[in-house]
Amino acid sequence: MKVCIACGMPMNEPADFAMSDSEKDYCVHCARPDGSMQSYEEKMDSLTGFIVRTQGLDRDAAKEAARKMMSRLPAWRESAAEGKRS
Ligand SMILES: [Zn+2]
Repeated sequence: MKVCIACGMPMNEPADFAMSDSEKDYCVHCARPDGSMQSYEEKMDSLTGFIVRTQGLDRDAAKEAARKMMSRLPAWRESAAEGKRS
């Protein structure tokens, strides 16, 4: 089973993959409409919004939670480390 490199979601069905392409390493939620992978900032934004909606955190706390989640994922290890330094 593959796991999305950008959000950690398990991808079981072709429909879970970007463009329903099981060769892709990221899921449908992490793809732009054209099928390319979202940038760190884009994913951070959507994840922050998701956490605000589902956990009721304020935006700053949600952003910190999103950064922590993303720092554990292969797609973002470098970007997250850079974000911490700046
Ligand atoms: Zn994903």
